[in-house]
Amino acid sequence: MRALYTISGNLPLIGHIAFGIIDRGTNLLQVRPTSFCPLSCIFCSVDAGPRSRNRIAEFMVDERYLVEWFVETVKVKKLESAHAYIDAVGDPLTHPRIIELVRLLKNTGRAISISLETHGALLTEKLAEKLEEAGLDRINLSIDSLDKEKARVLSGTPWFDVERVIKVAEHIAKNLSIDLLIAPVWVPGYNDEDISRIIEWALRIGAGKKHPPLGIQKYEAHKYGRKVPGVKPLRWRDFYKRLRVWEEQYGIRLILSPQDFGIVKAPRVPLAFEVGEKAMVKVVGPGWLKGQWLATSRNRVVTVVGVTGQSPVGQQMRVEIVRNKDNIYIAKLLW
Ligand code: SF4
Repeated sequence: MRALYTISGNLPLIGHIAFGIIDRGTNLLQVRPTSFCPLSCIFCSVDAGPRSRNRIAEFMVDERYLVEWFVETVKVKKLESAHAYIDAVGDPLTHPRIIELVRLLKNTGRAISISLETHGALLTEKLAEKLEEAGLDRINLSIDSLDKEKARVLSGTPWFDVERVIKVAEHIAKNLSIDLLIAPVWVPGYNDEDISRIIEWALRIGAGKKHPPLGIQKYEAHKYGRKVPGVKPLRWRDFYKRLRVWEEQYGIRLILSPQDFGIVKAPRVPLAFEVGEKAMVKVVGPGWLKGQWLATSRNRVVTVVGVTGQSPVGQQMRVEIVRNKDNIYIAKLLW
């Protein structure tokens, strides 16, 4: 049984990888409203879904609170506006008020564009239409195989129906203003031939009205992610070599850069802690993964790692910051 954090003013929204706002020093902000996922993809780099083995907590953020932090972060970065990229260590469509989140982001007047990534398990034609009406510009849709059985195996989910997702995608490409970027995860030995078929299908249905139609993703074996038995991730060199062959074959660009999406460097949110710094944090509960506690300090969330036992909620603890990349804070306990 995992703990559930419902966040609406009780926690800061910068500092954690699994929820809130992530700034990586560009004019794009990742907006993470939820960590839930209905699927359990066999290659999932963040070990999401019902079959997760490392998670002990999930997060759900109130959309109004999240948008307040989006606007505040844009201001702190001294920007007029930023791209809002709704993603998750799960699937953003599990947020029950995802339409409202898009609408609120749009209403701020501070979102250059609003896009969302999903594997499509919860996407319907109706939902896509409502997202369009709320102001969504693009969906990055991961479809890893057009074959029903293979898609089920890859999704680790017996009820997953890729044919339904394909129909919704075709409706979006044909009838809605939302742009589609098809983003399959290429798992060598599993869906090699499927990638060509997905490219042909994406081009046929008219994905990529304004931006590139495809963004092929490389399977990676992450420390806390799920690893596909017997599959060795491709070397980047070999991955790009294959992308170049497909580029040539289909006359499209598959090796993409941030500029393709209007993403440029921008001032970062200043760091709240330096690596090596010792600080007091207040423990608020269990962490996202086993062996972690969640804590706060200086209006940031801090993950305390390497701990055992129940989280001493409410207690002040002395920690040393061991990681601060992109304002995501990891600390170890000082006894
Ligand atoms: S890859 Fe995406 S859709 Fe699949 S389990 Fe992970 S988060 Fe969910």
